[in-house]
Amino acid sequence: MTEGRGVVLVTGGSRGIGAAASLALATDGWDVAVNYRTQADEAARVVKACEERGARAIAVQADVAEAEQVERLFETVAAELGPIGAVINNAGVVSPAGRVAEYDAERLDRVFRINTVSAFLVAGAAVRRMSTAYGGDGGVIVNISSRAAVLGSAGEYVDYAASKAAVDALTTGLANEVAKEGVRVLGVRPGLIQTDIHEPGRLDRLGATPPLARPGKPEEVAEVIAFLASDRSSYMTGTTVDVSGGR
Ligand code: NAP
Repeated sequence: MTEGRGVVLVTGGSRGIGAAASLALATDGWDVAVNYRTQADEAARVVKACEERGARAIAVQADVAEAEQVERLFETVAAELGPIGAVINNAGVVSPAGRVAEYDAERLDRVFRINTVSAFLVAGAAVRRMSTAYGGDGGVIVNISSRAAVLGSAGEYVDYAASKAAVDALTTGLANEVAKEGVRVLGVRPGLIQTDIHEPGRLDRLGATPPLARPGKPEEVAEVIAFLASDRSSYMTGTTVDVSGGR
């Protein structure tokens, strides 16, 4: 284990990429707050695995699409683990596959609320605690976007792609806002990664389409997230890294 790096909050840390990121960060010496919305058992499993790697870890239930719950989440983490030094803005959802002409307002509200509004709420709460302009000690925000933001996801979920393109703009704009306040803002665009987010059969159908001819593992994204959260990426800000097998 690397010497203690501080406290990291991973939103949507109970499953998939967020769970793998929590473990990679624990291995890297971070104490980890694992946020989840519904899967308390899965979050508890991740906490235990972080502790087995020598980290302090807690699970915190909160819907990050709700402003008051985001505030409570940050307050709970600070009270139980100490000041937050990094935030992995990871929670996200897709909607069932469909064409733009079929989307209703309810679907659009949900996907933009959970993927985009939540990312802004979490990033804002992080800046109010980490920025030197607010009395903080600095830190790193890693926004989890998607290659869909660039590819567009035609016929599947263009709304999701657009909600993640907005996250890319958040990374660029916020990084410039807070660069002189000790906060770096970075992004990761995963490609097809083996998690439960996909509809059944989607990975079988599309998994071999990247140049590397296979889907990625959550751990392969987690390695990049851990690198970006650390001082090893000290001269990077405002940029988003593709982890997508070349697709
Ligand atoms: P996943 O396996 O479905 O896990 C999603 C996680 O997000 C779960 O821990 C879930 O918590 C949490 N979550 C969802 N809505 C939430 C909310 N409102 N508040 C708090 N937590 C919430 O998804 P994943 O594949 O790991 O995706 C993680 C991120 O990577 C997402 O932003 C996704 O868009 C992005 N991404 C994934 C892929 C891929 O191929 N897998 C590709 C590109 C980008 P509970 O289970 O407790 O409800």
